[in-house]
Amino acid sequence: MTQQKKKGIAILGATGSIGTQALEVISENPEHFSVEVLTANSNVQLLIEQAKKYEPNIVIIADESKYEKLNSALSALPIKVFAGFQDIIDVVSLDSIDIVLTALVGYAGLLPTVNAIKNKKTIALANKETLVVAGDIIKDLVQEHQVSIYPVDSEHSAIFQCLTGEVNNPIEKIYLTASGGPFRDLPIDEFKNITLEQALKHPNWAMGNKITIDSATMVNKGLEAIEAKWLFDLKAEQIDILVHPQSIVHSMVQFADGSIKAQMGLPDMKLPIQYAFTYPDRIKNQFPRLNFADYPNLSFSAPDLKKFRAIQLAFDAMKQGGNMPCVLNAANEIAVAAFLQKKISFVQITETIDAIMQKADFISKPKLEDYQDCDKKIRELTKAIIW
Ligand code: NAD
Ligand code: MG
Repeated sequence: MTQQKKKGIAILGATGSIGTQALEVISENPEHFSVEVLTANSNVQLLIEQAKKYEPNIVIIADESKYEKLNSALSALPIKVFAGFQDIIDVVSLDSIDIVLTALVGYAGLLPTVNAIKNKKTIALANKETLVVAGDIIKDLVQEHQVSIYPVDSEHSAIFQCLTGEVNNPIEKIYLTASGGPFRDLPIDEFKNITLEQALKHPNWAMGNKITIDSATMVNKGLEAIEAKWLFDLKAEQIDILVHPQSIVHSMVQFADGSIKAQMGLPDMKLPIQYAFTYPDRIKNQFPRLNFADYPNLSFSAPDLKKFRAIQLAFDAMKQGGNMPCVLNAANEIAVAAFLQKKISFVQITETIDAIMQKADFISKPKLEDYQDCDKKIRELTKAIIW
């Protein structure tokens, strides 16, 4: 890398799928990175282990009832220990942080990201929900504070990589690839029998529960389309979803002359995480390499929007704009939580989102407070119809 100084990294959501893989990337490159902050929701045991191994300046657990355990386990180390969500929002202002990796799940990513941008930190964005909920506000803040957002989501990292060197070449369209999830080939009349255990088995990626269910309903691809709109300044018509079961082509960009660039590799989130940390440089690693001969058939097809109605709902929300993507996100978060608790069936996740989008009050130009208020109200409304 050209830069000599180590980059100080804050990992919000360190105990999750992205967080733990980010720590692997960091431990493989100790000369490039230092861990400044680790945060978690409630997995205190793993946070203690991570803190002992990486010795950050600060650790924070959102669940305040776990503070004593965390604090006493780390008392012999020079690590500051805090608890509560407000401290996660505040910690990103720390001087020693260069990059904030937003690896929390759901709406919870929004306020820490807003504060990180206001404090001029580079954002490595895994938390797509931040852009889904309030992409317009984030875009304005990024402009105002002149910070960079580097995508960690593999599709968006792929597009970002395809755009390198294309400074004055506008995007004609993008192809967001999707594995299609575990139910890609399941006939629609069998969707009503899908169990939680089946939905939690993703064919190509090991991820947190929420995004695994989002991938099974394909709401994830809808969220990613909205994420792409804000990251790359696109209209809905410029975003195509392509089902690509092998997950080798991570996404593609088509330019004005019809030329298409793709970014490829084995499915491994450590690559987009590493690239977000090292951009514009690429550094050597030991990740397994793609052998094309192992993949004689790379296939692409349009998604079945009858089976995966959530994609259409997300595009509808994107086209309506305003608070509609925030409504979709909040309804989805509650519906997925209910499905994970076996309170509703798989097909009811999408049905719930649809019903809530029809009931919600539309706000055309929400402020940050309006988004906060909308998220809260929609959660309550969704709970009321489910429970
Ligand atoms: P996960 O459930 O495995 O981990 C989430 C992390 O956030 C945990 O450390 C948890 O303690 C913390 N957290 C959760 N809720 C919180 C809250 N309310 N307050 C504070 N901390 C909280 O999730 P994940 O799969 O790592 O996904 C994280 C984000 O990255 C999501 O937005 C997801 O869409 C995105 N993403 C994940 C993957 C992947 O491969 N896992 C790929 C692309 C994008
Ligand atoms: Mg993705």
